[in-house]
Amino acid sequence: MKSHTRNIRSWFFAVLGLVVLVPVIWILIVRLEGEKPAVTFQLPGPALGISQTFSVTVADNKSGLRSIWFGLLSGTKQYVLLQENFPGSGFLGGGDVEKESFRVTLEPRELGIEDGQATLRIVVRDFSWRGRLKGNQAVVEKPVIIDTKPPVIDILTRFHNVAQGGAALVIYRLSEACPKNGVHVEEDFYPGFSGYFKDPGLFMAFFALRYDQGRGTKMFVQATDAAGNRSVAAIPHYIIKKRFRKDKITLSDRFLSAKMPEFSNELPQASRLSPVEIFLKVNRDLRRESYKKIKELVSHPDSKMHWNGIFLRLPNSARKAGFADHRDYFYGQKKIDSQVHLGIDLASIARSKVLAANNGRIVFSDKLGIYGNTVIIDHGFGIFSMYSHLSAIQVQPGQMVSKGDIIGLTGSSGLAGGDHLHFSILIHHTFVNPVEWWDASWIENNVLSKIKDVETYGG
Ligand SMILES: [Zn+2]
Repeated sequence: MKSHTRNIRSWFFAVLGLVVLVPVIWILIVRLEGEKPAVTFQLPGPALGISQTFSVTVADNKSGLRSIWFGLLSGTKQYVLLQENFPGSGFLGGGDVEKESFRVTLEPRELGIEDGQATLRIVVRDFSWRGRLKGNQAVVEKPVIIDTKPPVIDILTRFHNVAQGGAALVIYRLSEACPKNGVHVEEDFYPGFSGYFKDPGLFMAFFALRYDQGRGTKMFVQATDAAGNRSVAAIPHYIIKKRFRKDKITLSDRFLSAKMPEFSNELPQASRLSPVEIFLKVNRDLRRESYKKIKELVSHPDSKMHWNGIFLRLPNSARKAGFADHRDYFYGQKKIDSQVHLGIDLASIARSKVLAANNGRIVFSDKLGIYGNTVIIDHGFGIFSMYSHLSAIQVQPGQMVSKGDIIGLTGSSGLAGGDHLHFSILIHHTFVNPVEWWDASWIENNVLSKIKDVETYGG
């Protein structure tokens, strides 16, 4: 009997123990969890400018989010950018919100924050009982530099005569490092390069006016510092109008049947098209694709000026077509297409030696759409020369060449009727008139004398 009572009593305590202990253990495990909230926050860079918006995501999938504090510490001062408490379901229940994203805008001047070093701090708490019931705390701190001053652009070259389809050089000084700086000619951007002068704040930018950009085209230097502060300075200039030649090209059946098979591989439906239809696809679509490819090839110019003095012209050659000739294409009596010729055609005897026009690095030596076998040389600071319709190529990409080195032989590969050299100069992605670069006095007046002035007088 006694043992029976004892049995009941011990069962009673065992059940009571379980009834009390299980929730207590559960509470201890769940409500006293020690996992900090997760904070996702990326700073694009350490420099902060006039205005920026940060995204921050906070999450706590155990106790739920309790609060977030986002602020900036500058000197002894503290600026609150965001402060929020999240709802919870009572003492035992924890937080209702597991995850939340915020966009926080900081405009230092609006808050009276001074330029200089500062710290961004994010403090996030959860609903755990840890930390004397204040919750687990995650702290993210990022050192930043507040910089609300835009860079100062000082243009050192005095005047800029720019011909339609021509090039120009501007030299300027920046008051601070600017990851992005260069010349805008309307929407076209021509980056600036430092490193030519000892002063690392001095930049050179070669830029171009497209043949179809006329008077009134806006051109200015633009510089953006690490904090995103941007300045603009107008370039004093005069635009020289040019009249471009009109040319009529009559397509013969002999030319079409001799030339079009070469392009059949590049056109999937070629077998179903007439020679004239193939020609139109080549002259329009393939021309556009070839230019796209060229733009890619010249998109990372060497930041060292390899070239020196005038550019060489194909020796003993006659000019067969000029820069920006407006060509109308006729088949029979009918005009079927119009294109603009963005190079100069030079003819000599067949398979003439083609020389590197100036010192540089070979960036391309292969077939290139309508241009056939082509070599492109990077002369540095955004200046490139291009040699097309070659019958043979004698250089490799990456190879350095000197002015006058043989790079290949003239030919009629690609969209060419006879043996000649199609020679082009590019300022970054823009074809310009090569005549300027063959002309010693143009180079002296527009490039070398400007460099000399800056070297002599500084800025
Ligand atoms: Zn040509």
